[in-house]
Amino acid sequence: MKFKMIKKLKTIVTCVLLLCVVGLGAQPLKQDAAVRTGKLKNGMTYYIRHNAKEPGLADFYIAQRVGSILEEPRQRGLAHFLEHMAFNGTKHFPGKGKQLGIVPWCETIGVKFGVNLNAYTSIDQTVYNISAVPLKREGIADSCLLILNDWSHYLLLEDKEIDKERGVIHEEWRTRRAGKAISRLMEQAMPKIYQGTKYEDCLPIGSMDIVDNFPYNDLRDYYHKWYRPDLQAIIVVGDVDVDKMEKKIKKLFSAIPMPKNAAPREYFPVNDNDTMIVDIERDKEQPVVLCHLYQKRDATPDNEKNNVKYLRDEYVDWLVCMMLNERLTEKKLKAVPPFQSATVHTSSFFVSRTKDAFSLTVSCQEDKVLSGLVVAMGVVEQARQHGFMASELERAKLLKLNHDERKWRERDDRRNSKYVSACLQNFLAGEPLISIDDQLALTRQFDKEVTLEEINEACKQLITDKNQVLVMYAPEKEGLVLPTEQQIRDVLQAAQDLQYAPHYEQPLTTDLATYLAPFIPQKGSIVSERPYKHGFTELTLSNGMKVYTKKTDYSADAVMFKMKAEGGTSQYPDADIPNFSLLGSAITEAGLGNFDATELRRMLAGKSVRVQPSVGTRSQSISGGVALKDMPTLFQLVHLYFTQPRRDTTAYQGLVNRTRAFLTNRNASPKVDYNDSIRAIVYGHHPRLEPFKQETLEKVNYDRILEIYRDRFSDASNFEAVIIGNYDEQQLRELVCEYLATLPSTHKGEKTNWANVAKMVKGDFARTFKKKMATPLANVSIIYAADVPFTPQSDLELDFLTRVLKIAYTDSIREEKGGTYGVSVAFDLDKDDSPNATLRIAYNADPNRYEELNPLVYEQLQHIAKNGPAASSMQKIKEYLVKQYQQNAITNDYWSYIIWHELEDDADFDTGYCDMVRQMTSEQVQRMAQRILDAHQRIEVTMLSE
Ligand SMILES: [Zn+2]
Repeated sequence: MKFKMIKKLKTIVTCVLLLCVVGLGAQPLKQDAAVRTGKLKNGMTYYIRHNAKEPGLADFYIAQRVGSILEEPRQRGLAHFLEHMAFNGTKHFPGKGKQLGIVPWCETIGVKFGVNLNAYTSIDQTVYNISAVPLKREGIADSCLLILNDWSHYLLLEDKEIDKERGVIHEEWRTRRAGKAISRLMEQAMPKIYQGTKYEDCLPIGSMDIVDNFPYNDLRDYYHKWYRPDLQAIIVVGDVDVDKMEKKIKKLFSAIPMPKNAAPREYFPVNDNDTMIVDIERDKEQPVVLCHLYQKRDATPDNEKNNVKYLRDEYVDWLVCMMLNERLTEKKLKAVPPFQSATVHTSSFFVSRTKDAFSLTVSCQEDKVLSGLVVAMGVVEQARQHGFMASELERAKLLKLNHDERKWRERDDRRNSKYVSACLQNFLAGEPLISIDDQLALTRQFDKEVTLEEINEACKQLITDKNQVLVMYAPEKEGLVLPTEQQIRDVLQAAQDLQYAPHYEQPLTTDLATYLAPFIPQKGSIVSERPYKHGFTELTLSNGMKVYTKKTDYSADAVMFKMKAEGGTSQYPDADIPNFSLLGSAITEAGLGNFDATELRRMLAGKSVRVQPSVGTRSQSISGGVALKDMPTLFQLVHLYFTQPRRDTTAYQGLVNRTRAFLTNRNASPKVDYNDSIRAIVYGHHPRLEPFKQETLEKVNYDRILEIYRDRFSDASNFEAVIIGNYDEQQLRELVCEYLATLPSTHKGEKTNWANVAKMVKGDFARTFKKKMATPLANVSIIYAADVPFTPQSDLELDFLTRVLKIAYTDSIREEKGGTYGVSVAFDLDKDDSPNATLRIAYNADPNRYEELNPLVYEQLQHIAKNGPAASSMQKIKEYLVKQYQQNAITNDYWSYIIWHELEDDADFDTGYCDMVRQMTSEQVQRMAQRILDAHQRIEVTMLSE
């Protein structure tokens, strides 16, 4: 009791301190001048911004401050239902399947449904978008505005279209719940943690009983009550003339009437609680014990956010969470880890707009639930009692500053979606809309002003023992005894009452460059160079390694790196299979050279660099990305991962223990079993594709892992490296000579051992099996394979086939039959596989409709093989692919994809691509479909619920 009084006293002191800060920081923020905003007489808000990073493209949005929280009990699920109906008939786009519908019209101009044309409904907001619109003619922008206009006020909501959509939503519900214990658990938890408030039952998916049966007018009532100008904003960002766009918006949207006596838009409160609310939820398919501890506080009202103080508070809270997360990660890496993982963050409380929370998330080992919670709580409480060290704060500040500086350097490379999301945040959540210049200036100011004392004081405000809610999601299984609610309350209270010793960390004694210098006595060299295809330069190094470089300015402050060689785990006998699964993490969790993982992380504070080694079946690689100022660090890390993987038995023991705990309930979710079964059936139980189980874990040998890893990275001459980005030519050459040309080489010329690579079994058959599931479901996967010529033309034909099938499935199985939320279709063309082409069709459905729907899935492919795809589908795909090419061709990722195809497959996937797209004929796609069917290589794997 005494302890708590001291706490209160401190609270008062801090309030006085905080008042001073309020006085200083309450000055309002200047809105980003590049965004034109305004409000029409009817109350509608608009945002317009010019951005030509992607020339000729623009995004059109309508955002609404409404969502499922506003539904009456008899309307549960209708806010989301309404969102679907926006695509099924409006005043100016009355059709759906017909040419006059929104979806077909958008697709004729290359705006793809589900990718560029989409919407979402959440508890407090509903947002629709038409994105990456090619503004080829004036009329296109007008039509997009007309669609937004129709969404705002002119939906048709016809009886028969409503009836058709019921099945789609029901299947969306099934897809979202089936195999996803967490969504069921959340739904169960809400009535308890929000008891007595509107949030008790508010998730957008709603009630299926209502979705299946509601009277039409319940939907129309919601639409007319809540879709109205004072709660709506139009957002247009892209290659547009702002003045002209503003005129168009004013003219079109001013005509929308604002209803008289409109219902007030209420934001519903959340109760406070004295005693900790503890809610334990269990589900048979939940694999881990996951705990969320929330310490609630009132959210800042929207009208108090547009000032310096608000951003400064956010900055401080961010630093506190960052430093706590570092300490929690360090705890996780112990030989006997107290928990699987633990993190903190600040955000809204669960899903509510009116309450925020500091939250601690702990993934516990199921035999150590209480002790895991206690350790994690101890880390948080220790920081509240003693604050942080100066070195910790310095690192956290560097991280934030570095992040914002890099964002500023890349300010001209921002895609439309980034600007849109800032406008959305402003309209929907009252977040300040400031320029990148101002944002960086403020971060620099905070970086200078904010002291350790202020941070430590803020930490005491953020972390409290008041107003707490703990939600636990646990497996439902025999023999698992979970703590009681009271036990949880008691141990957490005890952990909060305990006095902790202050945290201490060893100061760093060296940096990477200094450490590495003695190991590189002499630089290597570039022995020859020549221009290569697609604007790359090929450098041959003195150790035999080849490097391909391309300087680009698509991203002002980014360089991407990848080096790769044939070999992989195919080099080792089956006896080594258990060692393969931990190969990656055993290396990365052990640190590098002389430094353990924690030291290494500290050394990299304030740097934007990411390097990751990986050993696959056929090859091994090191890949990464970096900001320009950290180029040397990237190369130092690459050199170290090649030459000095570290042996760390503590880290390894910790990894084994966490993996063992993870594997305990690996198969809780039926999805995991399903994926295991697909692999086993398609590859004939190939030993290298068997699932990793606890028994396998006991056979893993750490020394052997290190041996394999060192062997994989012993011959630099076998590697090719690709470096793309806005690097400095001279610096790059020096770094290449110092850190890549000095890597050891054995000149063995190793190749992948194909005898050890799994192949698909031959045959044309289906396997069906049953399994108990919490939500009844049919999981269906159909895999076709065939040998086709390995050419860019075949690749494109497969791409077209995939897309025409998707359109056909959306029309038939989703829209006509209301049988599924979606059918996914994907293809793969791999030079070295035999057969080399695969087509994979997958969907979920009501198990009672499997017999009815499944033949339709096959029929669509047969139909295309017999009659060819519809000309209209071909045209839609062409428009989309040409547009997508223009978007892709200005990214480093695209050129990486192109160069690796050149290097590994000797194939040019870029030159003439758009011509090839335009010239693609229905007959070519039809022949590809025939080829796939004629191969008679098909495996269907279906899992039905019992
Ligand atoms: Zn939906």
